Amino acid sequence: NRQIVLAARPVGAPKETDFRLVEGPVPPPAEGELLVRTIWLSLDPYMRLRMGTDLRYYPPIPLGDVIVGGAVSRVVESRHPKFAPGDIVDDYTGWQDYAIAQGASARRVNPALGPLSTAVGVLGMPGLTAYLGLVKVGRPAPGDTVVISAASGAVGAVAGQVAKIAGCRVVGIAGGAEKLRYLTQELGFDEAIDRHTDDLPGALAAACPDGIDVYFENVGGPIGDAIYPLLAHGARVVICGGISHYNATEPPKVASHSRADPLHRDRGEGFNIYSYGAHYEHARKRLARWLGKAGSPSRRTSWTASRTRRWRFSASSTGSNFGKLLVRVSAE
Ligand code: NDP
Repeated sequence: NRQIVLAARPVGAPKETDFRLVEGPVPPPAEGELLVRTIWLSLDPYMRLRMGTDLRYYPPIPLGDVIVGGAVSRVVESRHPKFAPGDIVDDYTGWQDYAIAQGASARRVNPALGPLSTAVGVLGMPGLTAYLGLVKVGRPAPGDTVVISAASGAVGAVAGQVAKIAGCRVVGIAGGAEKLRYLTQELGFDEAIDRHTDDLPGALAAACPDGIDVYFENVGGPIGDAIYPLLAHGARVVICGGISHYNATEPPKVASHSRADPLHRDRGEGFNIYSYGAHYEHARKRLARWLGKAGSPSRRTSWTASRTRRWRFSASSTGSNFGKLLVRVSAE
C-alpha cells in the first residue's frame, strides 16, 4: 500500500521533500469498517492549511501521518451492514492506495448522478461550498452583479453557474486568456477579468458599472483590495477562502478597505462548508439536476498517481491547474 506522509512542515509553497512515500501492508478492516481502494483523490487548498500549525483551522496533520484528503473509492471488503464490495464511497481517506473507511461516516456515491470524479467536485465538497456559500451568505437576487475570484477553479466555476441560474450578472476573475475564454464562452459568465492585468481596479470598475452586490471571495490579497471600494449599498461578501495567503510566511497585510463598510450596510461573513451539513443533500440534488445542462463546469486537471509521486499539490497555489484538481489513483 503506497502512502504519502507529511515529512516536514512546508515553508512557503510545499516542496517534494515535505512529502515522503512509504509502502506497507494493506490493513484489515475491523467491525464497522470498510477496506477501500482509492480511485480519485481530490486535491484541495485546505490541505495546505493542515500541513501548517495554525490551530484556528482544523488540527494540523502530525508529522509522519498520511496527508488528509477526500477521495472516491471502491469498497474491497465491508464489515459494515450498509456497504458491500464494489460499492463506491466518498470519505476523507487521504493520500493512499488503500484505506480504512468508517461505515458510519462514509457516503455512498450514486454513479448515475455523474462521472465518479464529480463526487469530490461539483457534487462534492467544492460544489456544495459554491452553492451553499452563494445561496446562504451571498443571497443573490435577479439582476445583482456577482463577482467571483478564482472563478475557473473547483468552487468558483460552480458559484458562477449558480449565480447565472439565479439571474445575476456574473463577473469572474481568473489567471490567463484560456481561463477567461472558458468562463465567458463555455460557462456563460458575462465578463471575465485577468487577475494579472496592470489595472485590476479599473477593469473591475468597467465591468461593474452599478457596483458589486455579491463578492464571492476565494483569494484575498490585492484582489480583495480592488473589490471593496466597488461594493454597492447592502452588498454581501462571502468570505470563502484566501488562497493567496496559504503559502505566506508572514501574516497578510489587511488593507483599509478590506472590511465591509457599516455605512453602506455591507455584510461580510466567513463561510465554512462544514457548518452546513444539514443542507448537503438538498444542495447535491439541485447541483445534480443542473450537471447535465450545457455549460456545467466540467474542467479538471488530473495526474496518475504512479507518474507523479508527490502528486503536484502546489498547482492550485500557482494557478497552473484548470478546474478541479484530482489525482487518478486507480481505474474506475
Ligand atoms: P482551486 O484549486 O480549484 O483553484 C485555486 C485557484 O486560485 C488557482 O487555480 C488560481 O487560479 C487561484 N490562485 C492561486 N493562487 C492565487 C493567488 N496568489 N492570487 C490569486 N489567485 C490565486 O481551488 P478551489 O476552487 O477548490 O478553492 C477556492 C477557494 O475556496 C480556496 O481559497 C479554498 O480554500 C476555499 N474553500 C473554502 C471552503 C470553505 O468551506 N470555506 C471549502 C472549499 C474551498 P487563477 O490563476 O486562474 O486565478
